[in-house]
Amino acid sequence: MRPKDAALAVTNLVPRFRLDSIRNQIFAFAVLATLIPSFSTTWLSYSQNKRSLQEKVRSQLQSVSSETGRELDLWLKERLYELRVFASSYEVSENLDRVSKSESQAQRRLNDYLNSVRVRFADYEELMVVDRQGRVVATSAPQAAPVNLPVDWASDIRAGNPAVGEPYWDESRHRVVVIAAVPIHVASGRLVGAFTAKINLRTVDDVLKRFAPVSSNPLYVITTEGRVITTSRSGSAEPMRAALPPATAQALLDHESGILEYTGLDHESVVGSLHRVPRLNWAVVAEIPTQEAFRQVIRLRNAMILILTALLVGVGLIAYILGLLIVRPVNRLAQGAAKVAGGDLDVDLPVPSGGEVGYLTEVFNNMVTRLREGRHALDAINETLRKKNEELEQLSITDGLTKLYNRRYLMERLATEIQRYRRHKRAFSVMMADVDHFKPYNDAHGHLAGDEILTRVGTILREVAREGDCSARYGGEEFVVVLTETEPAGAAEFCERLRARLATELFEGGKITLSIGIAEFPIHGDTPEKIIAAADAAMYRAKREGRDRIVLASPKRADETTKKRV
Ligand code: GH3
Ligand code: MG
Ligand code: MG
Repeated sequence: MRPKDAALAVTNLVPRFRLDSIRNQIFAFAVLATLIPSFSTTWLSYSQNKRSLQEKVRSQLQSVSSETGRELDLWLKERLYELRVFASSYEVSENLDRVSKSESQAQRRLNDYLNSVRVRFADYEELMVVDRQGRVVATSAPQAAPVNLPVDWASDIRAGNPAVGEPYWDESRHRVVVIAAVPIHVASGRLVGAFTAKINLRTVDDVLKRFAPVSSNPLYVITTEGRVITTSRSGSAEPMRAALPPATAQALLDHESGILEYTGLDHESVVGSLHRVPRLNWAVVAEIPTQEAFRQVIRLRNAMILILTALLVGVGLIAYILGLLIVRPVNRLAQGAAKVAGGDLDVDLPVPSGGEVGYLTEVFNNMVTRLREGRHALDAINETLRKKNEELEQLSITDGLTKLYNRRYLMERLATEIQRYRRHKRAFSVMMADVDHFKPYNDAHGHLAGDEILTRVGTILREVAREGDCSARYGGEEFVVVLTETEPAGAAEFCERLRARLATELFEGGKITLSIGIAEFPIHGDTPEKIIAAADAAMYRAKREGRDRIVLASPKRADETTKKRV
């Protein structure tokens, strides 16, 4: 995966925080408004506290290291003073002078003197008297051995100054020692040699232990190269193997009287302060683990993080709930409006108590109620219109007097039947009936009585015909019935039934009869007009042949008749 794709994948994982929603705006505002002041206040107090705590640690470490440094200086001064006192003894100078003149008794006396002093002063591992060339003339040790005098000892001694060497690990005594030498002069003031001592660091160890009673906060003495001479933990009975990295030692030396954070001898982070002991070329380092030094700072920082986190969570929660309280009714309104826009008026939103949104919701509900009422009214009007339309439709195809279909509908129906025939090949018949001697009846009994006949013939036709058949008033007293799926034989049967039924009917002027013509589609005519003409021709034949009868059309004659009538 390329880095760009990876970045894109990560961005997709994190839900987008968009500021165009009210809830997010409230959330961001609340969090920022709370966090900025509280964060700055907390940060300010944290940094102030941190500074003062650091200052406290610095002064503690510094006072320990400088006090210890002073003690070590004093210790060295005392040792050198003692050595000068020993060296100024008549026993030493005179006997040394005599030894140089090869007097063996003098050497013995010197040895005795050295032994007697050493026994009384525990700080000295070995006391020696060396001649001007550095050769050991007398020693407190059982056997004389060469001694490692300080590098510049000869010039120091000649100048009348003490010479102090570098500390080193004395294998035979199993401890760290330091060689110090002071000049020996005879009464005349002539330099005859040096009073030399191998000094142990027991007193130094005691000083360190006194100033650093807690082992977690060690105090140690190092050379200026960083090698550890003695520590408050193990004392000087440890070989000088431990050392601070040169860079750390140098940094400490450069920041004398300040504090530094670095990796200590135990490979742990520590805070330390260094104080030089100039005369010795040594330095005292006081340390405290960083964790402990800044425990309060860390506690303070953790408390700060905790407070800020709690604040963030609390404010975030409040902002979220507030956002919900405000946004939920607005969302509901938006969803309600969308429903209404989509045509669903069955919306009644819960009204939140009070406030602008509550008022808006109330207005919205009222508006939807009005719309609903309007729609009900509209629905009622539409229903009425539909019914009226249906009635009009029905009227437009119905004969007003007989309530049978009118001629217009008959012709449409015939066209439909012809189409159906073309699909299913099912023949149908058309019957045309004309009331016999209707004119004289009309004349004799009046037009209304004639109408009564027409109405009743219509009723009878509806009774006798099947449901799918179409009974229509074709003209004045002429009726046509389209008999679906019926062959001429069936049509004749129907006509007989009609005649028989009519025969039972008694009118004001007595009984009436019908002359009926039957034509079959498509034999007697293959269009609505032709089939009607064929039935009409057959009906006229029935008239001619004496009326009150049924005549089946013949194709040839139908054409003739049509021509004749046209
Ligand atoms: P035919 O047996 O040959 O049919 O004799 P007819 O008297 O019935 O002769 P015709 O068919 O010529 O007579 C039709 C008469 O029907 C003429 C007209 O006055 C009458 N008529 C037409 N329409 C109506 C109507 O709506 N109501 C009434 N009462 N009479 C009508
Ligand atoms: Mg007639
Ligand atoms: Mg007629």
